[in-house]
Amino acid sequence: MLVAMSPRERSPTTVRARREPPRFRLVAVRRVVPVTPRMVRVTLTGHELEGLTVEHPAASVRLLLPSPGAQELVIPSWHGNEFLLPDGRRPVLRTLTPRPVDTEPLELDLDIVIHDDGAVSEWAAAAEPGEPAAISGPGRGYAIDPDAHAFLLAGDETAIPAISQLLETLPAARPVQLYIEIAHPDARLPLPAHPRATVEWCDLPPGATPGDVLVAAVRNADLAPGTRVWAAGEAAAMQRIRRHLFVERGLPRAHATVRGYWKHGRSADTRTTPEP
Ligand SMILES: Cc1cc2nc3c(=O)[nH]c(=O)nc-3n(C[C@H](O)[C@H](O)[C@H](O)COP(=O)(O)OP(=O)(O)OC[C@H]3O[C@@H](n4cnc5c(N)ncnc54)[C@H](O)[C@@H]3O)c2cc1C
Repeated sequence: MLVAMSPRERSPTTVRARREPPRFRLVAVRRVVPVTPRMVRVTLTGHELEGLTVEHPAASVRLLLPSPGAQELVIPSWHGNEFLLPDGRRPVLRTLTPRPVDTEPLELDLDIVIHDDGAVSEWAAAAEPGEPAAISGPGRGYAIDPDAHAFLLAGDETAIPAISQLLETLPAARPVQLYIEIAHPDARLPLPAHPRATVEWCDLPPGATPGDVLVAAVRNADLAPGTRVWAAGEAAAMQRIRRHLFVERGLPRAHATVRGYWKHGRSADTRTTPEP
């Protein structure tokens, strides 16, 4: 028998159950090393990392941290479309880009942007060896299209870890245009070499909206036929880049991967668990 749904039941607020993400693996901080004044590399270790493989560049993991003020890590449980702690609160959970896991010794590196305020940024800036955390993942990375004639990569500081991996992986024979928006000159860092890459660091003027300079760079870029685009950064800016590529330029959707990595003025705490 078919049961008619009321408009309320069909409304967009209806919560759709999602597949439970991969289990959390307990880890501890091994060391924290500054990469630039705007970024630190946090190395995590622990036997539960065994079997975690990161095959593609620009993949993701979720990093779980103790709640503010707590020393102990509580593993949350899955409630259909988000993780919740036993007391009903949302855990501190953020998405980051993993380096491939080292096996000897068993270690995982995360490069984390230090920005004005934010639980993970503050944690990374002050983390000490031995502190507990957990990792779930990996989420999908970028599968390189063998038919691509050229690549355009665009991202802000949070995309530098993914962009570095892409530069290490993209075919050496293909040209790569690269635009990176940085909110401070200190964010510049040496990138992996690619023989056909042209790199432009784009400084965001103080007070400008995050993503403005990156959007302008993509708008002004020449896109040769057969170019594939990968872009990641502030969510509203990525929406503008999508509109430009798909609506104004008519790029086939399959030729671009554009991912919102964070929301200006909004903590990831206020969002349900993102898709991996
Ligand atoms: C697939 C994926 C991969 C990612 N990889 C990385 C990575 O490798 N390294 C990395 O550092 N980040 C990465 N991010 C982005 C990261 O998850 C967010 O920046 C996250 O919001 C940081 O958490 P937080 O606790 O520091 O700040 P939140 O508590 O989420 O936010 C607090 C405040 O800070 C602002 N904010 C958040 N991030 C930034 C920022 N980068 N610059 C300026 N203001 C900000 C928010 O708008 C909010 O006002 C990735 C995101 C995704 C989806």
